[in-house]
Amino acid sequence: MGKVLVIGAGGVGTVVVSKMASLPEVFTEIMLASRTKSKCDAIAARIGGNRVQTAQVNADDVPQLVKLIKSYQPDIVVNVALPYQDLHIMDACLETGVAYLDTANYEPLEEAKYEYSWQWAYQERYEKAGLTAILGCGFDPGVTSVYTSYAAKHHFDELHYLDIVDCNAGDHGKPFATNFNPEINIREVTQNGKYWENGKWVTTKPHEIHKPLNYPEIGPKESYLIYHEELESLVKNYPTLKRARFWMTFGQEYLTHLRVIQNIGMAGIEPIMFEGREIVPIQFLKAVLPDPGELGENYTGQTSIGCRIKGVKDGKERTYYVYNNCSHQAAYAETGAQGVSYTTGVPAAIGTMMYLKGLWKKPGVYNVEEFDPDPFMAELTRLGLPWVELHDTDLEF
Ligand code: NDP
Repeated sequence: MGKVLVIGAGGVGTVVVSKMASLPEVFTEIMLASRTKSKCDAIAARIGGNRVQTAQVNADDVPQLVKLIKSYQPDIVVNVALPYQDLHIMDACLETGVAYLDTANYEPLEEAKYEYSWQWAYQERYEKAGLTAILGCGFDPGVTSVYTSYAAKHHFDELHYLDIVDCNAGDHGKPFATNFNPEINIREVTQNGKYWENGKWVTTKPHEIHKPLNYPEIGPKESYLIYHEELESLVKNYPTLKRARFWMTFGQEYLTHLRVIQNIGMAGIEPIMFEGREIVPIQFLKAVLPDPGELGENYTGQTSIGCRIKGVKDGKERTYYVYNNCSHQAAYAETGAQGVSYTTGVPAAIGTMMYLKGLWKKPGVYNVEEFDPDPFMAELTRLGLPWVELHDTDLEF
């Protein structure tokens, strides 16, 4: 059915191409390209069967990307490199007339700040070129956004309150490690918290608001209010929301390490001089931390991510909780990567499938909640991320 170019050979890239390779009726040809070609080759070898071609590319170099896209001629480029590359890859897709999909919104390298404005600014150019760009198609953002649009379509006339709850109750056996790219992860969790209430953003100090929340099959876990990118598009696309928040669990050990890392300056993004050469502290830290892609083997426990929604249906107040629990060990057994990479990579593969099947295809730049959620939700269950619905339960608001 279609030919795809996947960029980024990390934990998420491993899952995306493994899942795509298992669906030859949809993903006829697959190429994995990244900065370090040997990583692409290792992933392709693990999958076997000559299903995945590989290439080297620096995704910060638009002419290099254009050359690769022109020579391979994919139907769509799937960006699972880092958020810094988003705009370069979007530029290359525009120049070559190819569709685009990613899992994380653009963030400038020199400033720990992410928002959709930079990517939404491509709307007119993609529309004029007749090209589709699908933004934020991992789990959160991604599945959480689709859960919200599914709730709006099937269970509510108006959404009023939304809590996105993200729990990782897994144990990787390391004193400190991040579950996806350490640089992006630490930049995300150390910034101020922010949530939407009564038509405006409320900013909090990092980890200032927290409380225990109960997660299915896991139990209570201390959960911290942080800012997360899907809140920005969801409050825009669902203007009836009176409040929208994002909660993530962190263990005490993780928070202690994070505090020390910050206090000693290792989370810094400004270059410093070290023995005659410039280094960026957080990039050096990434080099000494465990590679998230290597955490899988001894990872036990599960993740639980979902949306808790309160709103009105037929004049009555209703609550709805939709979630997925994912086992790290099952994810590793299937793809060689842990649960966080799995829960991000599978939705990226499904979003790509939606595009190739013509179900999520319209000229312009769109967040995933702007497409029909139904075919995507059906594939989630079929492809390893089944979801559970609870109606009219206590949402711990
Ligand atoms: P990793 O750091 O494991 O992998 C990133 C890969 O991108 C690496 O292989 C890296 O190459 C490659 N890369 C980096 N820069 C370039 C470049 N300039 N040119 C070509 N390749 C490059 O990250 P993850 O797999 O953990 O995460 C991938 C993406 O998924 C991130 O953007 C992250 O924010 C997003 N994500 C989204 C989630 C969601 O639910 N929506 C959740 C988790 C992650 P090299 O190996 O040479 O370093």
